[in-house]
Amino acid sequence: MFRTEYVKKVYADLQKNNANEPEFLQAAQEILESLELIVEKRPDIEQNRILERFLEPERFIQFRVAWLNDKNEVQVNRGYRVQYNSAIGPYKGGIRFHPSVNASIIKFLGLEQILKNSLTTLPMGGGKGGSNFDPKGKSDAEIMRFCQAFMTELYRHIGPDTDVPAGDIGVGGREVGYLFGQYKRIRDEFTGTLTGKGLAFGGSLARTQATGYGVCYFTQEALKTMKGETFQGKTVAVSGAGNVAIYAIEKAQQLGAKVVTCSDSNGWIYDPEGIDVELLKEVKEVKRARLTEYAKERKSAEYHEKKNGEHGVWNYKVDIALPCATQNELNLDDAKALVKNGVQIVCEGANMPTTLEAAHYFIDNGIIYGPGKAANAGGVATSGLEMCQNSARLSWTFEEVDAKLKGIMEGIFHNAHDTAVKYGVKENDLLTGANIAGFEKVCNAMIAEGVF
Ligand code: GLU
Repeated sequence: MFRTEYVKKVYADLQKNNANEPEFLQAAQEILESLELIVEKRPDIEQNRILERFLEPERFIQFRVAWLNDKNEVQVNRGYRVQYNSAIGPYKGGIRFHPSVNASIIKFLGLEQILKNSLTTLPMGGGKGGSNFDPKGKSDAEIMRFCQAFMTELYRHIGPDTDVPAGDIGVGGREVGYLFGQYKRIRDEFTGTLTGKGLAFGGSLARTQATGYGVCYFTQEALKTMKGETFQGKTVAVSGAGNVAIYAIEKAQQLGAKVVTCSDSNGWIYDPEGIDVELLKEVKEVKRARLTEYAKERKSAEYHEKKNGEHGVWNYKVDIALPCATQNELNLDDAKALVKNGVQIVCEGANMPTTLEAAHYFIDNGIIYGPGKAANAGGVATSGLEMCQNSARLSWTFEEVDAKLKGIMEGIFHNAHDTAVKYGVKENDLLTGANIAGFEKVCNAMIAEGVF
């Protein structure tokens, strides 16, 4: 797995100290495999014990969240915030509400976030938070009470220049509004402590679309640079049906592609005529319903129930795959099916949706592979732009924000691609490129700022 004694030792210690954290170890292994190349070139990394310091969160906060459901019964959940690395800016990263959330998931997401935020070129450190709270089936009043209880503990750890949370799975505009309202009431200040806010209270235009649009801008730039091609006339598989998937589908279609799949926690849609994105928005964003509702309304759509919790969206003949659901949703068998069916490029809207084996398979088979930390950085980049607007007490137009987002995504692609070439790996290995490029800036800042 590793060549150098230093990296072998770092990973062995990590395994020992985080034994029951498979997602965290997976993310760390994937990053260390890339960083070995820069470790071999720069002895100051080992001398300063940068890898050990980089992998150890600056702070990991765990707290109780007690709240009342609609029957006035007391409910108890666990809340988390990891303040992973502040070398290049205040901690920044989303909050995830999902029953699977645990320390391993929060740490893997926080670690990825450090590199992602670095790649945006904006001054943001890495953080992440969440709870094992399950928003599914909860009333609006329950969601509000939970968000208020969560913030009643979290507020003491965050601030506009220290740690700026945002959304992630299970946390969208509604939840950010409730979280922000509670923060404002407790702190009695109105700045930019959360991003993804509503437009009426400091949110940025294009933040809602940013992650999905950004994945497509990244994919477009990669196709143009490496293959001289565009989205025009291509067939695309997307997984997920949340905020990232919806706006990735919308942008891919605007750019001339046909998107034939999407999925949610119960099943998936295959729609050979192309997903009707307005209907999808109505079902998911307005009605907060399941994809079965989409299938009822749309004659051309097939609905399939998941088998063993797995969707089947990677089994169709497509040119482009955009995994936008969740971690480890695309395994080696899926990768083989996609390659067999002629996929050219895989860019991740979700965080770590591809298993390590599957990512290696894509890279070894010449498929352009854009990892989430590069391809889905448009969300947090636009959060960074929201922070800029809040600090300046200004709001930019949709076109201004969208143009900045596009520029950032193109820049991230070229940074990852140039770094892959510079370090002598295959040019389709944007994973190594993104890991090294994101890391180098953080590493230089850590050395410059002294031991801490
Ligand atoms: N949760 C998103 C991500 O994974 C966005 C974070 C943010 O806007 O701070 O990058």
